[in-house]
Amino acid sequence: MKILVTGGAGFIGSAVARHAVRNGHEVVNIDCLTYAANLANVAPVSNAPGYSFERVSITDPAALNAVFDRHRPDAVMHLAAESHVDRSIDGPAAFIETNITGTYTLLEAARWYWSREGQPEEFRFHHISTDEVFGTLGPEGKFTEETPYDPRSPYSASKAASDHLVRAWFETYGLPVVLTNCSNNYGPYHFPEKLIPVVILNALHGRPIPVYGAGENVRDWLYVEDHCRGLFLALVKGEPGEVYNIGGKCEMPNIEVVRAIIDNVNRINGSEVDADEQITFVTDRPGHDRRYAINCEKIESELGWSPKENFESGLAKTVQWYVDNGGWIK
Ligand code: NAD
Repeated sequence: MKILVTGGAGFIGSAVARHAVRNGHEVVNIDCLTYAANLANVAPVSNAPGYSFERVSITDPAALNAVFDRHRPDAVMHLAAESHVDRSIDGPAAFIETNITGTYTLLEAARWYWSREGQPEEFRFHHISTDEVFGTLGPEGKFTEETPYDPRSPYSASKAASDHLVRAWFETYGLPVVLTNCSNNYGPYHFPEKLIPVVILNALHGRPIPVYGAGENVRDWLYVEDHCRGLFLALVKGEPGEVYNIGGKCEMPNIEVVRAIIDNVNRINGSEVDADEQITFVTDRPGHDRRYAINCEKIESELGWSPKENFESGLAKTVQWYVDNGGWIK
């Protein structure tokens, strides 16, 4: 397939682009290169035949129409977004603009292109979203595809809005869409503003490690390459109009994640960093969701997906990657 990947210079989008090229697909990477982007993330595939890059914003309808006409893709995988919850609290405007207006603009460009092509049934608009749209859980239960939406941050509210737009374009215009909602990803090429890369880098450099509240918030960690395999199954085998949840089956409180990272850094560096000395508890994020957990039985039973990495194996690979890639970090 020729796949138009939005946000392909970011963390997950670049993993999707690398995975796609390695599996014989053509990729048109659309990214306007915000602070979160890095073209080094796609350097391993950027000279491959069938890979191209377009520096375009998903909020620019004329530029998007030109890209669709020039490349005539078989599918769109939409990952471009503002993605950091803390930034959404400090400045929500960019989240409304990119995640809501940008998704609307991309949907319209895709719809008009799909119509010009004669509305091919096999075309797909795959929207990649988050479990944060479902809100927060108590100690029990997991999010399913039927869990009602209850977003609580500007980021998750903007992603929820984008999910609703994508569903509406299926119901109203028949655009063949697929949605996936996934849990927290981790792995190589993760921009060092999110928990796992921040903690790895601080641990490697002996700096204090900030932990929100008492570190009791629980996330379901998904290794980014497991996520990519799930995304491609949903793209290729998923039913139009359907939603698939993707989770790592690795629920962990943040404090345990931090301790596991310090253990890995000590193992790799031969150091003896004392976690209790390095961790600094800081004032909690406002409205910090307590727990996320994904029930991914649907994608397992219907599409045959399951995660290959557990948290131990995925984290060991991730820490090693940051140790080996000082140039990328700089
Ligand atoms: P990221 O912040 O690393 O990358 C986002 C990319 O989108 C960047 O390259 C950025 O330049 C690009 N972008 C932003 N605005 C754009 C615009 N207007 N036009 C074109 N490109 C633009 O994000 P990520 O962590 O890779 O997340 C990718 C997607 O997956 C997002 O939609 C996010 O909501 C979703 N998601 C992420 C996670 C996670 O744990 N990282 C979990 C669930 C869902």
